[in-house]
Amino acid sequence: MTVDAMEKNLFGLSLNQLNDLMKELGFPSYRADQLFEWLHKKQIDTWEEMSNIPKKLKSTLQENGYQLMLPTLVSKHISTDGQTIKCLFSLYDGYTVETVLMNYARDNSRDRRTVCVSSQVGCAMGCPFCATGHQGFYRNLDVSEIVGQVILMNKLVRQKDPIEQVTNLVYMGMGEPLNNYNHVLASVRLLSDAHGLNIGLRRMTISTCGIVPKIYALAAEGLPVTLAVSLHTADNKKRDKLVPINEKYPLASLLKACRYYYEQTKRRITFEYALIAGENDQPSDIIDLQRLLKGLNCHVNIIPLNVVSHAPYKTSLEAERFVEQLKKYHVEAFIREEKGLEIDAACGQLKANEGEKHEYFLDE
Ligand code: SF4
Repeated sequence: MTVDAMEKNLFGLSLNQLNDLMKELGFPSYRADQLFEWLHKKQIDTWEEMSNIPKKLKSTLQENGYQLMLPTLVSKHISTDGQTIKCLFSLYDGYTVETVLMNYARDNSRDRRTVCVSSQVGCAMGCPFCATGHQGFYRNLDVSEIVGQVILMNKLVRQKDPIEQVTNLVYMGMGEPLNNYNHVLASVRLLSDAHGLNIGLRRMTISTCGIVPKIYALAAEGLPVTLAVSLHTADNKKRDKLVPINEKYPLASLLKACRYYYEQTKRRITFEYALIAGENDQPSDIIDLQRLLKGLNCHVNIIPLNVVSHAPYKTSLEAERFVEQLKKYHVEAFIREEKGLEIDAACGQLKANEGEKHEYFLDE
């Protein structure tokens, strides 16, 4: 399957695109609705099972190169409490990505089943504490490959309970989502379509290490998705080292973009802060952070660093003190509930401790 053929993977087409396709091929538009329902509501990936689609349409689609293709499950790791599942999926060209499903039980509200999707094979951003960044960049994922990860995770949810489904989506897996902007945005629209999986836009979070022009672009989309910024320090010199894109888009420009995002969307910004011993966990770091975020409607997720084998960084033991101090400055902060640590499915760990390139390219 070539890249062109990927564009003919029906799982990556929106309902509007399917409508246009039906028109082009000479079929009535209600066939687009039926196809969309098979693909995204019933999540069927074989022609045979699409019982109300006429043979003529199926054969016309196939003759024109259209395919039904989901990633292939290579391996599945389940945490001992059964609440986190990490899957390794193989793509059409042999590259692989990881996707994580996290179940959060809540006493007073509906349980959440959150999928953390990958948007790229590898990542070009080179954050030194991150396993994905360490591996380098291979390619962007197509829309159908991003959507496919969610569909396959949703199938796992339904295997356990047929009336349940994925409720939340975070673009925090492998890759920098805003560097694959068009495909990520297309997947957001597709996965939130009421005729399909219907995941609420307010239940979606797009993470970025700080691609400033794309934050402005996202703000202009008029979508109420949450923006999560991997901040990790409020000091430019330290950030140049921890998040190298900071050299191009330093903190002042990043925060200006975040303030703009909030003004446009009224969505509270999340700042991710991986706490690293001796690097960004000192009292001066708290002072810098509260100064930087002053007046912005946001909260800070303190993430105890997940140690990966290639990096010299160590987990800070200061998380609770850090949160308490930030609260004194009226900065809302939480220690993020970490899921999947034992199966290397936690933040920054995707690809961690494996270190082998075959995880990216199966046929090598
Ligand atoms: S932390 Fe995010 S942006 Fe940085 S290298 Fe890892 S995946 Fe890329």
